[in-house]
Amino acid sequence: MSRASLVLVVNAGSSSLKYQLLDPTVGATHATGIVERIGVDGHLRQVAGDVEHEQDVACPDHGTALDAALTAMRDHGPGFDPDSLLAVGHRVVHGGEEFGQPVVIDESVIQAVTELAPLAPLHNPANLKGIEATTHAFPRIPQVAVFDTAFHHTIPPSAHTYAVPREWRDKHGVRRYGFHGTSFAYVSRRAATLLDRPVDEVNLVVLHLGNGASACAVREGQSVETSMGLSPLEGLVMGTRSGDVDPSLGAYLARVAGLDPGDYDEALNRRSGLKGLTGDSDFREVQSRRSRGDADAGLAFDVTVHRLLKYTGGYAVLLGRVDALVFTGGIGENSPELRAAVMEGLGLLGLELDETANADGEPERKVTSAQSRVPAYVIPTNEELEIARACLEVLGAAGTQGAD
Ligand code: ADP
Repeated sequence: MSRASLVLVVNAGSSSLKYQLLDPTVGATHATGIVERIGVDGHLRQVAGDVEHEQDVACPDHGTALDAALTAMRDHGPGFDPDSLLAVGHRVVHGGEEFGQPVVIDESVIQAVTELAPLAPLHNPANLKGIEATTHAFPRIPQVAVFDTAFHHTIPPSAHTYAVPREWRDKHGVRRYGFHGTSFAYVSRRAATLLDRPVDEVNLVVLHLGNGASACAVREGQSVETSMGLSPLEGLVMGTRSGDVDPSLGAYLARVAGLDPGDYDEALNRRSGLKGLTGDSDFREVQSRRSRGDADAGLAFDVTVHRLLKYTGGYAVLLGRVDALVFTGGIGENSPELRAAVMEGLGLLGLELDETANADGEPERKVTSAQSRVPAYVIPTNEELEIARACLEVLGAAGTQGAD
């Protein structure tokens, strides 16, 4: 390949490294994979075209995990030629107040992401390990950071300010930031295309429902409110996260049960949500138990839907006009039951379900009837493509086209 056109997208977790090699100008994915159990033993899975590859690999750190991924792409995939690489795009979870746009990574960006670690202790340090590994492997290729929080920089102070003491806000960055921004940006653009209108004219309520879940109110293509806050714990019911609880809960449990802040944090992040209500964090399992009449699973489904209705209804009021409701994420894309329950509860918006389209069809589709006052869409998210496109934009590369 004479001209560099590919982007390697890296999403590094504390013990995993997800990667995708793609060409953002045409929206083509060449390989997608994950190395898991880094620092324990190491296991790699990759799909490249119709070739699936899986192997155990010794991975003491993220650097060896990256080497394993590059070898797998070379030996079991599309091949891997460093000269074809235009950029490496990194998902970075927390960009704080500083980063409203993707940036080319330099020492000052690394310093800033490091300093933001207290706001995202599970994520930012892991993201930095991914950056370190690819910078070492490709010292001359631009490394770009794309922040989960960036899309929410347009949220006004009325929506991002917590009514708490000034000192907390001024000294410790206590405010709402929001997450899943890369997904919301991608899905908003797709929704505008489906509505056949410019993105800066559309008002949307987008529900990103996966293991993590958040809702976003989009006005004229920009985020104006979202359900996650200082951290990804606030808002909707999630796989293992509680979403909203009374802020006095921590102090109450400290008094009556001697719970310390670390245990409280761990319980709300890892042992709550669907897991806390049913013992299962996987929505498919909850659905299947519910269909067999399991009362815990039934309650979990109802609590999930109730919370979604509160947020979606509130966002509709804030926006004043909703051009479309959008479902994305593993649950949003794949659960007709959940979508039907949410739309049934939103009678006020005049959503009329098309049962056949809701039950099955193309991954990306409209799921409301022709008479529905507001359309609802299922739009599979593609955060990797959005990150790769962001790399092109930030590097000033020529116009993107193809899969919009
Ligand atoms: P993550 O936030 O980890 O990226 P995903 O977006 O992949 O998560 O979503 C995972 C969730 O999607 C799980 O709760 C899973 O049970 C749910 N899910 C996947 N497929 C289906 C399906 N066919 N029906 C209902 N839920 C599904």
